Amino acid sequence: MKKYDFLVVGSGLFGAVCAQKLKQAGKQVLVIDKRSHIGGNVYTEKIEGIHVHQYGAHIFHTNNKEVWEYVNRFVEFNRFTNSPVANYKGELYSLPFNMYTFNQMWGVVTPEEAAQKIEEQRKEITGEPSNLEEQAISLVGRDIYEKLIKGYTEKQWGRDCKELPAFIIKRLPVRLTFDNNYFNALYQGIPVRGYTKLVAAMLNGIEVRLDTDYLENKEELDGLAEQVIYTGPIDAYFDYQLGYLEYRSVRFETELLEQANFQGNAAVNYTDRETPWTRIIEHKWFEFGKDDNGNEIPKTIISKEYSSEWKFGDEPYYPVNDEKNTALYQSYKELADKEGKVLFGGRLAEYKYYDMDKVIESALELCSEIL
Ligand code: FAD
Ligand code: UDP
Repeated sequence: MKKYDFLVVGSGLFGAVCAQKLKQAGKQVLVIDKRSHIGGNVYTEKIEGIHVHQYGAHIFHTNNKEVWEYVNRFVEFNRFTNSPVANYKGELYSLPFNMYTFNQMWGVVTPEEAAQKIEEQRKEITGEPSNLEEQAISLVGRDIYEKLIKGYTEKQWGRDCKELPAFIIKRLPVRLTFDNNYFNALYQGIPVRGYTKLVAAMLNGIEVRLDTDYLENKEELDGLAEQVIYTGPIDAYFDYQLGYLEYRSVRFETELLEQANFQGNAAVNYTDRETPWTRIIEHKWFEFGKDDNGNEIPKTIISKEYSSEWKFGDEPYYPVNDEKNTALYQSYKELADKEGKVLFGGRLAEYKYYDMDKVIESALELCSEIL
Protein backbone atom coordinates (compact mmCIF):
# COMPACT_ATOMS: atom_id res chain seq x y z
CA MET A 1 0.00 0.00 0.00
CA LYS A 2 1.32 3.42 -0.94
CA LYS A 3 1.02 6.25 1.54
CA TYR A 4 -0.87 8.56 -0.85
CA ASP A 5 -3.46 7.96 -3.55
CA PHE A 6 -2.19 10.95 -5.52
CA LEU A 7 1.01 12.90 -5.80
CA VAL A 8 0.32 16.31 -7.37
CA VAL A 9 3.42 17.89 -8.90
CA GLY A 10 2.99 21.67 -8.94
CA SER A 11 0.95 23.90 -6.64
CA GLY A 12 -0.26 26.27 -9.40
CA LEU A 13 -3.95 26.52 -10.19
CA PHE A 14 -4.08 23.22 -12.07
CA GLY A 15 -2.43 21.30 -9.22
CA ALA A 16 -4.38 23.12 -6.50
CA VAL A 17 -7.77 22.43 -8.11
CA CYS A 18 -6.91 18.74 -8.55
CA ALA A 19 -5.65 18.43 -5.00
CA GLN A 20 -8.76 20.12 -3.62
CA LYS A 21 -11.18 17.96 -5.60
CA LEU A 22 -9.32 14.74 -4.80
CA LYS A 23 -9.16 15.49 -1.10
CA GLN A 24 -12.84 16.37 -1.10
CA ALA A 25 -13.49 12.93 -2.60
CA GLY A 26 -11.65 11.34 0.32
CA LYS A 27 -8.32 10.69 -1.38
CA GLN A 28 -4.95 11.00 0.33
CA VAL A 29 -3.05 13.70 -1.51
CA LEU A 30 0.49 15.05 -1.39
CA VAL A 31 1.33 18.28 -3.27
CA ILE A 32 4.91 19.19 -4.08
CA ASP A 33 6.47 22.23 -5.74
CA LYS A 34 10.02 23.00 -6.65
CA ARG A 35 9.51 26.66 -5.85
CA SER A 36 9.59 27.95 -2.30
CA HIS A 37 5.96 29.08 -2.45
CA ILE A 38 2.55 27.82 -3.54
CA GLY A 39 0.43 29.26 -6.35
CA GLY A 40 2.65 28.82 -9.41
CA ASN A 41 2.47 31.88 -11.63
CA VAL A 42 -0.52 33.42 -9.89
CA TYR A 43 1.51 33.82 -6.69
CA THR A 44 1.12 37.20 -5.00
CA GLU A 45 3.25 38.50 -2.16
CA LYS A 46 2.30 41.23 0.28
CA ILE A 47 4.87 44.04 0.32
CA GLU A 48 4.19 47.35 2.11
CA GLY A 49 0.51 46.37 2.30
CA ILE A 50 0.29 45.78 -1.47
CA HIS A 51 -0.39 42.35 -2.99
CA VAL A 52 2.29 42.19 -5.68
CA HIS A 53 1.66 39.89 -8.66
CA GLN A 54 5.14 38.38 -8.75
CA TYR A 55 4.86 36.65 -12.14
CA GLY A 56 2.94 39.33 -14.00
CA ALA A 57 -0.48 40.93 -13.71
CA HIS A 58 -3.30 38.42 -13.35
CA ILE A 59 -6.90 39.45 -13.87
CA PHE A 60 -9.48 36.76 -13.43
CA HIS A 61 -12.18 36.79 -16.10
CA THR A 62 -14.55 34.10 -17.28
CA ASN A 63 -17.87 33.35 -18.91
CA ASN A 64 -18.07 30.03 -17.12
CA LYS A 65 -20.47 30.28 -14.20
CA GLU A 66 -19.37 26.97 -12.70
CA VAL A 67 -15.73 28.12 -12.60
CA TRP A 68 -16.72 31.51 -11.16
CA GLU A 69 -18.79 29.89 -8.42
CA TYR A 70 -16.02 27.41 -7.73
CA VAL A 71 -13.34 30.07 -7.07
CA ASN A 72 -15.77 32.19 -5.08
CA ARG A 73 -16.22 29.31 -2.65
CA PHE A 74 -12.70 29.90 -1.36
CA VAL A 75 -12.28 33.68 -1.28
CA GLU A 76 -14.12 36.84 -2.07
CA PHE A 77 -13.38 38.55 -5.42
CA ASN A 78 -13.44 42.31 -5.82
CA ARG A 79 -15.05 44.15 -8.76
CA PHE A 80 -11.82 45.08 -10.55
CA THR A 81 -12.33 45.68 -14.27
CA ASN A 82 -9.29 45.76 -16.49
CA SER A 83 -9.08 49.03 -18.42
CA PRO A 84 -5.50 49.58 -19.52
CA VAL A 85 -4.35 52.92 -20.88
CA ALA A 86 -2.02 53.17 -23.88
CA ASN A 87 0.82 55.68 -23.76
CA TYR A 88 2.17 56.51 -27.23
CA LYS A 89 5.00 59.03 -26.86
CA GLY A 90 3.10 60.84 -24.13
CA GLU A 91 -0.31 60.73 -25.87
CA LEU A 92 -2.82 58.71 -23.86
CA TYR A 93 -5.49 56.46 -25.39
CA SER A 94 -8.17 54.21 -23.93
CA LEU A 95 -8.06 50.47 -24.50
CA PRO A 96 -9.42 48.22 -25.86
CA PHE A 97 -10.34 49.98 -29.11
CA ASN A 98 -13.66 51.68 -28.46
CA MET A 99 -15.46 55.01 -28.87
CA TYR A 100 -13.17 56.71 -26.31
CA THR A 101 -10.13 55.62 -28.37
CA PHE A 102 -11.67 56.75 -31.65
CA ASN A 103 -12.57 60.10 -30.13
CA GLN A 104 -9.02 60.56 -28.78
CA MET A 105 -7.45 59.49 -32.09
CA TRP A 106 -9.66 61.33 -34.57
CA GLY A 107 -11.95 63.65 -32.62
CA VAL A 108 -14.98 61.73 -33.90
CA VAL A 109 -18.04 61.88 -31.68
CA THR A 110 -20.61 59.44 -33.02
CA PRO A 111 -20.29 55.71 -33.79
CA GLU A 112 -21.23 56.52 -37.37
CA GLU A 113 -18.28 58.92 -37.74
CA ALA A 114 -15.94 56.37 -36.17
CA ALA A 115 -17.15 53.59 -38.46
CA GLN A 116 -16.68 55.85 -41.46
CA LYS A 117 -13.11 56.70 -40.46
CA ILE A 118 -12.22 53.02 -40.01
CA GLU A 119 -13.89 52.18 -43.30
CA GLU A 120 -11.80 54.80 -45.15
CA GLN A 121 -8.55 53.47 -43.67
CA ARG A 122 -9.20 49.79 -44.06
CA LYS A 123 -9.65 50.17 -47.82
CA GLU A 124 -5.91 49.69 -48.31
CA ILE A 125 -6.35 46.03 -47.40
CA THR A 126 -7.99 44.09 -50.16
CA GLY A 127 -8.71 40.40 -49.75
CA GLU A 128 -8.28 38.22 -46.69
CA PRO A 129 -5.63 39.60 -44.24
CA SER A 130 -2.63 37.29 -44.33
CA ASN A 131 -0.63 38.60 -41.36
CA LEU A 132 -1.05 40.65 -38.19
CA GLU A 133 -0.37 43.99 -39.86
CA GLU A 134 -3.05 43.47 -42.49
CA GLN A 135 -5.48 42.09 -39.93
CA ALA A 136 -4.96 45.07 -37.62
CA ILE A 137 -5.41 47.66 -40.38
CA SER A 138 -8.49 45.89 -41.60
CA LEU A 139 -9.96 45.92 -38.06
CA VAL A 140 -9.17 49.47 -36.93
CA GLY A 141 -7.32 51.31 -39.70
CA ARG A 142 -3.73 52.47 -40.16
CA ASP A 143 -3.65 55.28 -37.56
CA ILE A 144 -4.48 52.98 -34.68
CA TYR A 145 -2.24 50.27 -36.09
CA GLU A 146 0.73 52.66 -36.21
CA LYS A 147 0.24 54.22 -32.78
CA LEU A 148 -1.29 51.49 -30.63
CA ILE A 149 -0.44 48.14 -32.19
CA LYS A 150 2.75 48.05 -34.25
CA GLY A 151 5.35 49.02 -31.63
CA TYR A 152 3.75 47.11 -28.77
CA THR A 153 3.30 43.93 -30.78
CA GLU A 154 6.82 43.98 -32.19
CA LYS A 155 8.26 44.45 -28.71
CA GLN A 156 6.05 41.74 -27.25
CA TRP A 157 6.76 39.13 -29.93
CA GLY A 158 10.22 40.20 -31.06
CA ARG A 159 9.11 39.96 -34.68
CA ASP A 160 7.81 42.22 -37.42
CA CYS A 161 3.99 42.46 -37.57
CA LYS A 162 4.11 41.18 -41.14
CA GLU A 163 5.63 37.94 -39.86
CA LEU A 164 3.06 37.33 -37.14
CA PRO A 165 -0.19 35.40 -37.53
CA ALA A 166 -3.37 37.47 -37.91
CA PHE A 167 -5.26 35.71 -35.10
CA ILE A 168 -3.18 37.27 -32.27
CA ILE A 169 -4.82 40.66 -32.72
CA LYS A 170 -8.33 39.24 -32.92
CA ARG A 171 -8.18 38.63 -29.17
CA LEU A 172 -8.75 42.35 -28.61
CA PRO A 173 -12.31 43.68 -28.74
CA VAL A 174 -13.21 46.52 -31.14
CA ARG A 175 -16.33 48.36 -30.03
CA LEU A 176 -18.41 51.23 -31.32
CA THR A 177 -19.58 51.90 -27.77
CA PHE A 178 -18.02 53.84 -24.89
CA ASP A 179 -16.73 50.82 -22.98
CA ASN A 180 -13.15 50.50 -21.66
CA ASN A 181 -13.59 46.98 -20.25
CA TYR A 182 -10.71 45.00 -21.76
CA PHE A 183 -12.50 41.67 -21.52
CA ASN A 184 -15.75 40.42 -22.95
CA ALA A 185 -16.48 38.33 -19.88
CA LEU A 186 -19.54 37.93 -17.70
CA TYR A 187 -17.46 37.64 -14.51
CA GLN A 188 -14.27 39.48 -13.63
CA GLY A 189 -12.29 40.40 -10.52
CA ILE A 190 -9.24 39.90 -8.32
CA PRO A 191 -9.24 37.79 -5.15
CA VAL A 192 -9.44 40.11 -2.17
CA ARG A 193 -6.03 39.87 -0.41
CA GLY A 194 -4.36 38.23 -3.37
CA TYR A 195 -4.18 34.99 -5.32
CA THR A 196 -1.95 33.26 -2.78
CA LYS A 197 -4.88 33.39 -0.37
CA LEU A 198 -7.08 31.68 -2.97
CA VAL A 199 -4.59 28.87 -3.56
CA ALA A 200 -3.92 28.48 0.18
CA ALA A 201 -7.66 28.10 0.77
CA MET A 202 -7.84 25.40 -1.92
CA LEU A 203 -4.93 23.56 -0.35
CA ASN A 204 -6.30 23.87 3.16
CA GLY A 205 -5.73 20.59 5.05
CA ILE A 206 -3.56 19.11 2.29
CA GLU A 207 0.09 18.21 2.85
CA VAL A 208 2.36 20.45 0.76
CA ARG A 209 6.13 20.09 0.38
CA LEU A 210 7.91 23.09 -1.10
CA ASP A 211 11.44 23.28 -2.55
CA THR A 212 10.94 19.75 -3.81
CA ASP A 213 11.79 18.96 -7.41
CA TYR A 214 9.90 15.96 -8.70
CA LEU A 215 12.28 15.15 -11.53
CA GLU A 216 15.29 15.16 -9.24
CA ASN A 217 13.66 12.73 -6.80
CA LYS A 218 11.32 10.93 -9.16
CA GLU A 219 11.84 7.36 -8.09
CA GLU A 220 11.46 8.08 -4.40
CA LEU A 221 8.41 10.32 -4.88
CA ASP A 222 6.72 7.91 -7.30
CA GLY A 223 7.09 5.29 -4.59
CA LEU A 224 4.84 7.32 -2.31
CA ALA A 225 1.69 7.45 -4.42
CA GLU A 226 -0.53 5.29 -6.59
CA GLN A 227 -0.92 7.99 -9.24
CA VAL A 228 0.81 11.20 -10.22
CA ILE A 229 -0.62 14.42 -11.65
CA TYR A 230 2.24 16.30 -13.28
CA THR A 231 1.88 20.03 -14.10
CA GLY A 232 5.52 20.85 -14.98
CA PRO A 233 6.97 21.20 -18.49
CA ILE A 234 6.30 18.13 -20.62
CA ASP A 235 9.71 18.24 -22.34
CA ALA A 236 11.49 18.35 -18.97
CA TYR A 237 9.58 15.24 -17.85
CA PHE A 238 11.06 13.33 -20.79
CA ASP A 239 14.50 14.83 -20.21
CA TYR A 240 14.23 16.86 -23.46
CA GLN A 241 14.88 13.67 -25.42
CA LEU A 242 13.07 15.02 -28.49
CA GLY A 243 14.31 18.63 -28.11
CA TYR A 244 13.30 21.81 -26.29
CA LEU A 245 9.89 23.43 -26.55
CA GLU A 246 10.26 27.20 -26.99
CA TYR A 247 8.61 30.03 -25.06
CA ARG A 248 8.48 33.82 -25.00
CA SER A 249 9.80 35.05 -21.72
CA VAL A 250 9.14 38.19 -19.70
CA ARG A 251 11.46 39.98 -17.33
CA PHE A 252 9.95 42.04 -14.53
CA GLU A 253 11.70 44.99 -12.94
CA THR A 254 9.88 45.78 -9.73
CA GLU A 255 10.41 48.99 -7.77
CA LEU A 256 9.05 50.37 -4.53
CA LEU A 257 8.37 54.10 -4.90
CA GLU A 258 8.00 56.64 -2.11
CA GLN A 259 4.89 58.16 -3.65
CA ALA A 260 1.23 57.24 -3.41
CA ASN A 261 0.29 57.28 -7.07
CA PHE A 262 2.64 56.68 -9.98
CA GLN A 263 0.35 56.30 -13.00
CA GLY A 264 -3.23 56.30 -11.71
CA ASN A 265 -4.09 52.94 -13.27
CA ALA A 266 -3.17 49.27 -12.81
CA ALA A 267 -1.80 48.90 -16.35
CA VAL A 268 -0.28 51.37 -18.80
CA ASN A 269 0.89 49.93 -22.15
CA TYR A 270 3.79 51.71 -23.85
CA THR A 271 2.88 51.28 -27.48
CA ASP A 272 5.80 53.05 -29.14
CA ARG A 273 8.78 51.04 -30.39
CA GLU A 274 11.47 53.04 -28.54
CA THR A 275 10.42 52.57 -24.88
CA PRO A 276 12.10 49.28 -23.97
CA TRP A 277 9.34 47.93 -21.70
CA THR A 278 5.93 46.84 -23.01
CA ARG A 279 3.94 47.96 -20.01
CA ILE A 280 4.04 49.14 -16.41
CA ILE A 281 1.85 47.56 -13.77
CA GLU A 282 1.04 49.52 -10.60
CA HIS A 283 -0.10 46.73 -8.30
CA LYS A 284 -2.03 48.70 -5.68
CA TRP A 285 -4.77 49.60 -8.20
CA PHE A 286 -5.85 45.95 -8.45
CA GLU A 287 -7.29 46.57 -5.01
CA PHE A 288 -8.20 50.24 -5.48
CA GLY A 289 -5.17 51.55 -3.60
CA LYS A 290 -6.28 50.16 -0.22
CA ASP A 291 -4.52 47.76 2.14
CA ASP A 292 -6.16 44.78 3.88
CA ASN A 293 -7.72 47.08 6.48
CA GLY A 294 -9.18 49.43 3.92
CA ASN A 295 -6.57 52.16 4.50
CA GLU A 296 -4.91 54.19 1.74
CA ILE A 297 -1.33 53.05 1.10
CA PRO A 298 1.25 55.90 1.16
CA LYS A 299 3.73 54.10 -1.15
CA THR A 300 3.42 52.26 -4.41
CA ILE A 301 5.01 49.31 -6.23
CA ILE A 302 5.43 49.18 -9.98
CA SER A 303 6.68 46.47 -12.34
CA LYS A 304 8.10 47.21 -15.76
CA GLU A 305 7.66 44.29 -18.15
CA TYR A 306 10.29 43.53 -20.74
CA SER A 307 9.48 40.88 -23.27
CA SER A 308 12.38 38.66 -24.22
CA GLU A 309 13.33 35.64 -26.28
CA TRP A 310 13.39 32.57 -24.07
CA LYS A 311 16.56 30.58 -23.62
CA PHE A 312 17.02 27.35 -21.74
CA GLY A 313 16.95 27.98 -18.00
CA ASP A 314 14.68 31.07 -18.22
CA GLU A 315 11.21 31.00 -16.69
CA PRO A 316 8.85 29.72 -19.42
CA TYR A 317 5.90 32.08 -19.89
CA TYR A 318 4.12 32.08 -23.23
CA PRO A 319 4.19 28.92 -25.37
CA VAL A 320 5.09 29.64 -28.98
CA ASN A 321 2.33 27.76 -30.74
CA ASP A 322 3.91 27.80 -34.18
CA GLU A 323 4.10 24.74 -36.42
CA LYS A 324 7.49 23.53 -35.28
CA ASN A 325 6.69 23.68 -31.55
CA THR A 326 3.18 22.31 -31.96
CA ALA A 327 4.56 19.28 -33.80
CA LEU A 328 7.21 18.75 -31.13
CA TYR A 329 4.57 18.97 -28.41
CA GLN A 330 2.48 16.37 -30.25
CA SER A 331 5.41 13.97 -30.22
CA TYR A 332 5.87 14.49 -26.50
CA LYS A 333 2.15 14.00 -25.98
CA GLU A 334 2.35 10.60 -27.62
CA LEU A 335 4.99 9.62 -25.08
CA ALA A 336 2.89 11.09 -22.25
CA ASP A 337 -0.16 9.07 -23.26
CA LYS A 338 1.85 5.91 -22.68
CA GLU A 339 2.78 6.83 -19.10
CA GLY A 340 0.14 4.86 -17.25
CA LYS A 341 0.76 6.17 -13.77
CA VAL A 342 1.26 9.83 -14.63
CA LEU A 343 -1.41 12.25 -15.86
CA PHE A 344 -0.32 15.53 -17.49
CA GLY A 345 -2.19 18.83 -17.10
CA GLY A 346 -1.87 22.62 -17.00
CA ARG A 347 -0.14 25.19 -19.16
CA LEU A 348 3.35 23.64 -19.06
CA ALA A 349 2.42 19.98 -19.36
CA GLU A 350 -0.07 20.70 -22.17
CA TYR A 351 2.07 23.47 -23.73
CA LYS A 352 -0.97 25.65 -24.06
CA TYR A 353 -1.69 29.34 -23.51
CA TYR A 354 -4.35 28.82 -20.87
CA ASP A 355 -6.09 31.66 -19.07
CA MET A 356 -6.76 30.92 -15.41
CA ASP A 357 -10.40 30.02 -15.91
CA LYS A 358 -9.50 27.58 -18.67
CA VAL A 359 -6.87 25.92 -16.53
CA ILE A 360 -9.41 25.50 -13.73
CA GLU A 361 -11.99 24.15 -16.19
CA SER A 362 -9.48 21.65 -17.49
CA ALA A 363 -8.47 20.51 -13.97
CA LEU A 364 -12.12 20.10 -12.96
CA GLU A 365 -12.65 17.99 -16.08
CA LEU A 366 -9.67 15.77 -15.34
CA CYS A 367 -10.93 15.21 -11.80
CA SER A 368 -14.39 14.28 -12.94
CA GLU A 369 -12.81 11.73 -15.27
CA ILE A 370 -10.65 10.10 -12.62
CA LEU A 371 -13.07 10.24 -9.70
P1 FAD B 1 1.80 27.15 -13.18
O1 FAD B 1 1.16 28.27 -12.46
O2 FAD B 1 3.02 27.42 -13.96
O3 FAD B 1 2.14 26.02 -12.09
C1 FAD B 1 3.02 24.95 -12.33
C2 FAD B 1 3.77 24.67 -11.04
O4 FAD B 1 4.54 23.46 -11.19
C3 FAD B 1 4.78 25.76 -10.69
O5 FAD B 1 4.54 26.23 -9.38
C4 FAD B 1 6.13 25.07 -10.82
O6 FAD B 1 7.08 25.53 -9.86
C5 FAD B 1 5.76 23.62 -10.54
N1 FAD B 1 6.72 22.68 -11.13
C6 FAD B 1 7.17 22.64 -12.40
N2 FAD B 1 8.06 21.64 -12.56
C7 FAD B 1 8.18 21.03 -11.34
C8 FAD B 1 8.96 19.95 -10.85
N3 FAD B 1 9.82 19.27 -11.63
N4 FAD B 1 8.85 19.60 -9.55
C9 FAD B 1 8.00 20.28 -8.74
N5 FAD B 1 7.24 21.31 -9.14
C10 FAD B 1 7.33 21.68 -10.43
N6 FAD B 1 -4.50 34.25 -17.04
C11 FAD B 1 -5.64 34.94 -16.84
O7 FAD B 1 -6.71 34.33 -16.77
N7 FAD B 1 -5.63 36.30 -16.69
C12 FAD B 1 -4.49 37.03 -16.74
O8 FAD B 1 -4.53 38.26 -16.60
C13 FAD B 1 -3.26 36.33 -16.96
N8 FAD B 1 -2.10 37.00 -17.02
C14 FAD B 1 -0.95 36.32 -17.27
C15 FAD B 1 0.25 37.03 -17.33
C16 FAD B 1 1.45 36.38 -17.59
C17 FAD B 1 2.74 37.17 -17.66
C18 FAD B 1 1.43 34.98 -17.78
C19 FAD B 1 2.71 34.23 -18.10
C20 FAD B 1 0.26 34.25 -17.69
C21 FAD B 1 -0.95 34.91 -17.42
N9 FAD B 1 -2.15 34.20 -17.29
C22 FAD B 1 -3.31 34.90 -17.10
C23 FAD B 1 -2.19 32.72 -17.36
C24 FAD B 1 -2.05 32.03 -15.96
O9 FAD B 1 -0.83 32.40 -15.38
C25 FAD B 1 -2.14 30.50 -16.11
O10 FAD B 1 -3.36 30.14 -16.68
C26 FAD B 1 -2.00 29.70 -14.80
O11 FAD B 1 -1.08 30.25 -13.92
C27 FAD B 1 -1.58 28.29 -15.14
O12 FAD B 1 -1.55 27.46 -13.99
P2 FAD B 1 -0.77 26.07 -14.02
O13 FAD B 1 -1.05 25.41 -12.71
O14 FAD B 1 -1.07 25.33 -15.25
O15 FAD B 1 0.77 26.45 -14.17
N1 UDP C 1 -1.82 44.55 -28.41
C1 UDP C 1 -1.44 45.75 -28.98
N2 UDP C 1 -1.45 46.90 -28.23
C2 UDP C 1 -1.84 46.89 -26.93
C3 UDP C 1 -2.25 45.67 -26.35
C4 UDP C 1 -2.22 44.52 -27.12
O1 UDP C 1 -1.07 45.78 -30.14
O2 UDP C 1 -1.83 47.94 -26.31
C5 UDP C 1 -1.77 43.34 -29.26
C6 UDP C 1 -0.48 42.53 -29.06
O3 UDP C 1 -0.12 42.02 -30.32
C7 UDP C 1 -0.91 41.40 -28.17
C8 UDP C 1 -2.34 41.17 -28.64
O4 UDP C 1 -2.82 42.47 -28.95
O5 UDP C 1 -0.11 40.27 -28.35
C9 UDP C 1 -3.22 40.51 -27.62
O6 UDP C 1 -3.25 41.31 -26.48
P1 UDP C 1 -3.50 40.69 -25.04
O7 UDP C 1 -3.54 41.80 -24.06
O8 UDP C 1 -4.65 39.77 -25.13
O9 UDP C 1 -2.14 39.89 -24.86
P2 UDP C 1 -1.62 38.92 -23.72
O10 UDP C 1 -0.52 39.71 -23.05
O11 UDP C 1 -2.75 38.58 -22.79
O12 UDP C 1 -1.10 37.76 -24.50
